[in-house]
Amino acid sequence: MALIVQKYGGSSVADTEKIKRVARRVAETKGRGNRVVVVISALGDTTDRLVGLAKEICSCPPEREMDMLLSTGEQVSVALLSMAMHSLGHDAISFTGAQVGIVTDSAHTKAKIIDIRAERILEELEAGKVVIVAGFQGVSLDNNITTLGRGGSDTTAVALAAALHADLCEIYTDVDGIFTADPRVVPEARKLDRISYDEMLEMAATGARVMQLRSIEFARNYGVVIHVRSSFSEEEGTWISGAPERMEKAVVSGVTHDTGEAKITLKGVPDRPGIAAHLFRRLADANINVDMIIQNVSDNAQTDITFTLSLDDLPRAREILSVVADELGARSYDCDEDIAKVSLVGAGMKTHPGVAADMFEALAEEGINIEMISTSSIKISCVVRNNEVERAVRAVHRRFGLEHGLVQHE
Ligand code: ASP
Ligand code: MG
Repeated sequence: MALIVQKYGGSSVADTEKIKRVARRVAETKGRGNRVVVVISALGDTTDRLVGLAKEICSCPPEREMDMLLSTGEQVSVALLSMAMHSLGHDAISFTGAQVGIVTDSAHTKAKIIDIRAERILEELEAGKVVIVAGFQGVSLDNNITTLGRGGSDTTAVALAAALHADLCEIYTDVDGIFTADPRVVPEARKLDRISYDEMLEMAATGARVMQLRSIEFARNYGVVIHVRSSFSEEEGTWISGAPERMEKAVVSGVTHDTGEAKITLKGVPDRPGIAAHLFRRLADANINVDMIIQNVSDNAQTDITFTLSLDDLPRAREILSVVADELGARSYDCDEDIAKVSLVGAGMKTHPGVAADMFEALAEEGINIEMISTSSIKISCVVRNNEVERAVRAVHRRFGLEHGLVQHE
């Protein structure tokens, strides 16, 4: 008898008809002799609406209260799904994150799971029930409700799958799986059958919005096998696991883009030890994640530091910079919100020269200027103007023939 964790996103439970449909799907899985734990998100765009309500009250709501508010969305959906299971004649029980011992740190609105005390879930499974857990939330050691960051139900599901040693974690969503690019931008984008954790991490980190980044980190660290698939069809989706055979042949897997970042440049900072450390420590202390960082070759013992960060963090970063720029003796700093990032991901680029050159050529042929470049062993990212990014994605996708499946690079 397998233990399966199924996660259904907000669009899969957008109304009561859809909730009943999810209940039937869960019942089928149970009916095949599996033990099932279900994690669900808030109905439809509930979380966005709750954020909107908070913003109507004040522009910068206290984060603890934000978590109290946002966690209610998932509490509604677990109760409704449990009722739907009961009306199908199945025994089910719903829980909040706190009730099933999802313990987090106290970083409100982006808490990290530090422990899962899964006894309660195991007891209920033992009693033959379907266990339904509210996604996206936990409880801190000081007994406050926390949330795991937008899209956090994925992380709840994968973390539960790890803690329960589940056989499989199914992520049900409104798309058919992981694609070679966002199909809204590249209509000929293709669904991938399999992808490795490392590639999926890079895809999620560079803008593929199907799964929350932290959930993939969890999956890789604990070896949780994930199947991302549509809740509206029976089709196979994309399997995310250790090292798919396909990796041997394909050089690149996908092109992603991200329009949710801003670029900050500090000009004329002294070129001496401790400057970068001071700047990035201040940002880290404010819980701000920095993405790309470039420091120029120094000129007259002065240098420029450019970095990117999430647009959401920009207001707080500006506050910090207004102080830190003076402390560092920088000449000036500026913030540019009109940027976007296009990235090419593929495990095969480690061993194939020329992938970067091909990508840059594809952009050059479109007359698209590259403002920043960063690489890992399996990813190349370029910052371009925001209004050129979709054209950039299409050009790179075409250049690598991603619409045709397996790409052999000469
Ligand atoms: N409801 C939360 C959100 O919209 C969590 C999730 O859906 O994963 O971000
Ligand atoms: Mg999601």
